[in-house]
Amino acid sequence: MTTPYFLSTAIPYVNSRPHLGFAFEVVVADALARHRRRRGRDVRLVTGTDDHSLKNVLAAERAGVGTAAWVAGHADRFRALWPTLGATADEFVSTSLDPRHRAAVVALWQRLAAAGDLYRAPYRGLYCVGCERFVDAGDLVDGCCPEHAAPPEEVAEDNWFFRLGRHADAVRAAIRDGRLAIEPAAARDETLAFLERPVHDLSVSRSAARARGWGIPVPDDPDQVVYVWIDALAYYLASLGWPGAQAQGRRRLRDQRRRRRLRVRDDAGAPTITAPGSAPASRGGSGAESPGRR
Ligand SMILES: [Zn+2]
Repeated sequence: MTTPYFLSTAIPYVNSRPHLGFAFEVVVADALARHRRRRGRDVRLVTGTDDHSLKNVLAAERAGVGTAAWVAGHADRFRALWPTLGATADEFVSTSLDPRHRAAVVALWQRLAAAGDLYRAPYRGLYCVGCERFVDAGDLVDGCCPEHAAPPEEVAEDNWFFRLGRHADAVRAAIRDGRLAIEPAAARDETLAFLERPVHDLSVSRSAARARGWGIPVPDDPDQVVYVWIDALAYYLASLGWPGAQAQGRRRLRDQRRRRRLRVRDDAGAPTITAPGSAPASRGGSGAESPGRR
């Protein structure tokens, strides 16, 4: 039996219609899947939509539509893109509609909490809704996010934080010895350079009030919703069947030794780091390779 080959597109926010960049990603993913199938591989190509983002909430507000209706309508457009392009995915997961996704988010959060990788702390910072993250004041140009040309909003609230810093050495080692492959080499080098600097812990929730109640509530803390990156990370796990009945998900996760996550856009960085950083928790390990920052 051949080694299974798992391939996923990035999952796009659905604040707008599909654009040309994502259409290109669909075509590339489909071509890669077809190529591997012709070579006899057992390929599984999954895609979907990243629904729990504040961007989506604000887009729905601007359109005067409820968020759930907006997201469902746009998910249909992204789904329809595939046959339009003659492409085929094995599975399409809309993260707000698929109950398997919610179960994976809750399970991942609980594992991270059990491993001691999460803590709640006050946070004050500048938040760019376009980036869906806090930005450094030093990176602003004339007070605006350089990518979105808009001023970030000042936010002061409690957040849950993931102890990303404690996993930096392990992630760096995995990239260096090839267990974690990042291609092309420029993206790999960029990620390693990011890990050479002090790696700060990562905000992984936001207040339910600021999120307008949209998102998956943090287990045992309903005032907070799970932040979009941890939420999206669970999509990749759920699409492999994790956590899964009768350990099926865990077995699939282990068997998919050659997992591929395709990103056409220039967004290597935190998502690239977060996924392997939190992987020990998804495997049920302690994840405590070195002392945390706090
Ligand atoms: Zn921005």
